[in-house]
Amino acid sequence: MDLSDPNPEVWDYLKGFVIRYDKSIFSTEDFARGDISLDSKIIHPAIDPLTVKNKDIGDSTIDKYLKKYDLKTDKPIITQISRFDKWKDPEGVVDVFDKVKEEVDSRLVLLGAPAIDDPEGPKIHKRLMEKVKGRDDVIIINKESDILVNVLQRVSSVVLQKSLREGFGLTVTEALWKGAPVVASDVGGIPLQIVNEETGFLVDPNDHKQVAEKIIRILEDPELGAKLGGSAYNQVKEHFLIIHQLLGWIKVLKEVLS
Ligand code: UDP
Repeated sequence: MDLSDPNPEVWDYLKGFVIRYDKSIFSTEDFARGDISLDSKIIHPAIDPLTVKNKDIGDSTIDKYLKKYDLKTDKPIITQISRFDKWKDPEGVVDVFDKVKEEVDSRLVLLGAPAIDDPEGPKIHKRLMEKVKGRDDVIIINKESDILVNVLQRVSSVVLQKSLREGFGLTVTEALWKGAPVVASDVGGIPLQIVNEETGFLVDPNDHKQVAEKIIRILEDPELGAKLGGSAYNQVKEHFLIIHQLLGWIKVLKEVLS
């Protein structure tokens, strides 16, 4: 939870429960709130590299799922994988894509699994479908499929995460792990994961021109994309695999128990 600027009423209510605990765990420094006397620890979210979503997959598996979802690779693919949520700004993603298309012919894929705890999702999905009605260059898939997440993060020329707000942004971690060139917002936990210009591009999500320019740079220079993606993998390996998260929890438990 981001407690840097909480709704005062909600926080007053929750605080009564929170202070009963021995420690609080936050996913990033920025979210830790100063006004609780509890000892706070930072444990970053992490990915499991052995799951269907993240494991290595061969070309035949990739081809199988590209066919199954009728996804063509004759043009570069730009993908955003996110719940259909206002903070993930899917409509803004389409606007950025329109700017990209003025320079480079490409396709946009938006994959979003329906989230049962997100009542606004169906409304946002419907609005998005209306926005792109009749277009065949924007593909919207409203389905939960770990293997499709894996496939898309591997075949995309650019993985975009144009969140207006973000907790940590595990979709970014997952894409970096696969060596995908990532363009993502400089918000929430995303800047912890990307060294700008070295392991991806950090952008202002409200500056559509800037976001489009970074995507175009990668599309026009595949070597740059490969370089960014290659360095990104190491960053995840060193900091954001489940083993690091596990060690963080063991440390916390040891402290509490002693
Ligand atoms: N996810 C998924 N299918 C989708 C969209 C998202 O499996 O169609 C997964 C994604 O791979 C990631 C998680 O949901 O593991 C989203 O985490 P993130 O931190 O990026 O965003 P959140 O939804 O928690 O705000």
